[in-house]
Amino acid sequence: MEIEIATIGGYEEVGRQMTAVRAGDDVVIFDMGLNLSKVLIHDNVETERMHSLDLIDMGAIPDDRVMSELEGDVKAIVPTHGHLDHIGAISKLAHRYDAPIVASPFTIELVKGQIEGEEKFGVDNELVKMSGGESMEIGNGLELEFVHVTHSIIDAINPVLHTPEGAIVYGLDKRLDHNPVLEDPIDMQRFREIGREGEGVLAYIEDTTNAQKKGRTPSESVARTHLKDALQSMEDYDGGIVATTFSSHISRVSSLVEFAKEIGRQPILLGRSMEHYSGAAERMGYVDFPDDLGMFGHRKSVDRAFKRIMNEGKDRFLPVVTGHQGEPRAMLTRMARGETPYELESGDKVVFSARVIPEPTNVGQRYQAEKLLGMQGARIYDEIHVSGHLNQEGHYQMLQALNPKHVIPAHQEMEGYAPYVNLAESEGYKVGRDLHITRNGNRIQLVE
Ligand SMILES: [Zn+2]
Repeated sequence: MEIEIATIGGYEEVGRQMTAVRAGDDVVIFDMGLNLSKVLIHDNVETERMHSLDLIDMGAIPDDRVMSELEGDVKAIVPTHGHLDHIGAISKLAHRYDAPIVASPFTIELVKGQIEGEEKFGVDNELVKMSGGESMEIGNGLELEFVHVTHSIIDAINPVLHTPEGAIVYGLDKRLDHNPVLEDPIDMQRFREIGREGEGVLAYIEDTTNAQKKGRTPSESVARTHLKDALQSMEDYDGGIVATTFSSHISRVSSLVEFAKEIGRQPILLGRSMEHYSGAAERMGYVDFPDDLGMFGHRKSVDRAFKRIMNEGKDRFLPVVTGHQGEPRAMLTRMARGETPYELESGDKVVFSARVIPEPTNVGQRYQAEKLLGMQGARIYDEIHVSGHLNQEGHYQMLQALNPKHVIPAHQEMEGYAPYVNLAESEGYKVGRDLHITRNGNRIQLVE
């Protein structure tokens, strides 16, 4: 059976991930993501109303025109998890394919939100839920399996396409977490089985975001302990404490809520995306928040919540807000500019349970937000966080477990591939032979 892989997006940047695998006459698409930084750099761009081709020209969504060169029918579109760089282009591209969207239940819920917010295209692909540990027959003699992985969002999976020529393992995004906070540990046993059974692994597409980092990515439970320690150290502070983190990081939000209670404060989630992600996770039973947890997204209800906090006393609350990257329109930035009823005073604490995404726009915005907070006397607690991506030892362990014939590094800029190349070559792979450094829009023929 002919096997071909089209590396469509996310091979020259972190963002707008999209890959297609053709096995015989059948094609499966993995991820359809957005490169948010290409959108944010323009002021006031409303992507909801924009046409796909304009977004492709901006570099915001994958250029899927290479799909016309693949001789096969698309059988499924498979987003791996709910981050925007993996699902954010579904509302712009999926309607061009007569295929269902197959994903884990939480990811499907977030995909639904994307489709509902779309104003230009009607996307009516069937939405099919499949959880980690499950599989389905697909196309002609193929099987699609989801392996449960751990990442900075719940319900992440790595899809595996089983073909007569071996398995194609699509490895974006994950860290090897054996002590996660809200869900099961990563299913390493299944990866080891896949590496040994049948024809073995024909190709492994890898998330190389952190390939330059030595050692092992710590578990989410480490971030949780760090967070607990930081908040306990503020136990006797009688002023304002504000925290911010990734809205989609339900495990982290849940730890913040829990430790706020422990130090005698009422947690409250503020900001549109806070309400969106945490609301979905709670509705679907992934997290059990306290009954009295307030979640407010709309500007007016947020401002009402802030007024209530100022009236009843800042020492009784712990607002968890959007704005960990200093995004100009996010809640924390508005607070820093004095645009909300919440008044920061000298000595108030601001907890960043996040790291700055190393991208010039983020770095600049975050610098500005921190300066503004500092001018009001806020004390900054930074980087109470662990990454959602593998470091070098995780990459090594995955190569050991899967023993793939071909390796295709992804989720990286061109200059960022060198550390992964060094690691893979020390394991016997060779660039140009079985280690494929590629670009967006290329096709790699693995079996002719
Ligand atoms: Zn991700």
